[in-house]
Amino acid sequence: MSIFDDIKERVTAYDAVTHYGIRVDGKGMCRCPFHNDRNPSMKVDGRYHCFGCGADGDATDFVANYFGLSAITAAKKLNEDLGIGLQIGEDKSSPPKTQEWIRKEKELLLKKDVVRAFDVLRRDAINILSKYHRLLWEWKREYEPETKDVGDADWHPFFVEALGELDLVNELLDDLTFGDRNKQLDVLETYGEEIRRIGERIKQFD
Ligand SMILES: [Zn+2]
Repeated sequence: MSIFDDIKERVTAYDAVTHYGIRVDGKGMCRCPFHNDRNPSMKVDGRYHCFGCGADGDATDFVANYFGLSAITAAKKLNEDLGIGLQIGEDKSSPPKTQEWIRKEKELLLKKDVVRAFDVLRRDAINILSKYHRLLWEWKREYEPETKDVGDADWHPFFVEALGELDLVNELLDDLTFGDRNKQLDVLETYGEEIRRIGERIKQFD
């Protein structure tokens, strides 16, 4: 049995027509909403039939034509508006609870994965920056010019790098270790690629 049969068994055209506010008189007649009807020329009972324009059908047809809906949408609307309580097909806009539950579960798992991935990235970044930080300190000590006579153009590039980078590396380490999530995310978004490159580069100093 189709959904349309199910509906037909439960509601009449009369139920639908009156539900949507069209007045039906004692003889079961109403003014037809499908043509410019001055005197009631539509007969409404199990089905509806207009003697003026020939409009004709059951409850679902009426709703489909009256609201300009497809038959299945009309059936769903009737089912809902008149509280018929049929389970009609799958509605993508409101999936049944089990589906909804599965979707939420998946979302949660995905979120957990993202958080886990983020923590791995953050730990990696902290490891790299800590190592780099140690290196910079070593370079700063080791390559410091012995006399003030050496012009900065002749400074060892490692010493220059140490002077240039130490503050930033300190700050990034601080943010990644003690900053809140947003701060950490900020650092990884802005410096992630650079930190990765530093990691590759300092492997040779292990
Ligand atoms: Zn009519």
